[in-house]
Amino acid sequence: MFSLLADKLQDVFKDLRGHGKITETNITDAMRAVRMALLEADVEFNVAKGFIARVKEKALGEEVLRGVHPGQQIVKIFHDELTALLGGDNEPLNLEKPARIMMVGLNGAGKTTSSAKLAMWLKKQGKAPLLIACDLHRPAAIEQLATLARQVGVPCFTPPPGEKDVLKVGRLAADWAKEQPGNVQIYDTAGRQEIDEPLIQEIKALREFLQPQEVLLVADAATGQQAVSVATHFHQALNITGLVLTKLDGDARGGAALSMRQVTQRPIKFAGIGEKLDQFEPFFPDRLAGRILG
Ligand code: GDP
Repeated sequence: MFSLLADKLQDVFKDLRGHGKITETNITDAMRAVRMALLEADVEFNVAKGFIARVKEKALGEEVLRGVHPGQQIVKIFHDELTALLGGDNEPLNLEKPARIMMVGLNGAGKTTSSAKLAMWLKKQGKAPLLIACDLHRPAAIEQLATLARQVGVPCFTPPPGEKDVLKVGRLAADWAKEQPGNVQIYDTAGRQEIDEPLIQEIKALREFLQPQEVLLVADAATGQQAVSVATHFHQALNITGLVLTKLDGDARGGAALSMRQVTQRPIKFAGIGEKLDQFEPFFPDRLAGRILG
């Protein structure tokens, strides 16, 4: 992920560093090249535009241009702005009681896998997570979650076969959770191929019933330009509390990662970096910024 963007940015910065003295024209040229690189990496147009404007304004500051190593300073400005765009610091999960976490997102984004990965991660942190299957549209998803729960070694709630009423299932699950020794509840919800109003309404009703501490939008980092509309739509309907970006190990261009946090103003809390259950980690904006800049 990001190798194309990283290569292009490194070229631009190598060029800037090569200049002993940097002029406004050098900066304007460099920022034009950076903007192209961001757009080619699928960063949404307005996000790229705003980002470039902020970097440029700082780079054109007197202290930078008159400084000893202007090229390096500009790289630092870029790194800091990129970190800010990705959210600044890592934001931990809110695990206030009853510590309910709803996982939402489109089909195939990695919701079910990420639910299990999150359970494994929490278990390693000394918590006692519970997995709860609330995807009533795809029977295979319930079995998939139950299988993953066995692999992780955590209890799993499965709805009564054929049950279609998600609120009833939510109520049964919440009652079940009270009887379990667990202290964090992870609800895997239904997805669709694309945003679909009845589904959003169903998840919204479940959100209102559960009053979860976290609603995490699971999104495939390779979503491309569609990422912004997906994130905006889910956020408007469900008031998400954070994002889980999956498939950061892939070779896609990765612009979604840079756009989604910006359009929702919600932190990316975790990253999926492979298919295995332990390939999942808290998201650190500065580390990703560092990787992108090489
Ligand atoms: P859901 O429909 O949103 O529940 O998606 P799934 O959890 O079933 O995941 C869809 C596919 O994406 C599965 O083949 C997962 O193994 C794969 N997947 C999920 N997360 C990652 C990740 O971080 N990296 C990679 N390479 N694959 C992932």
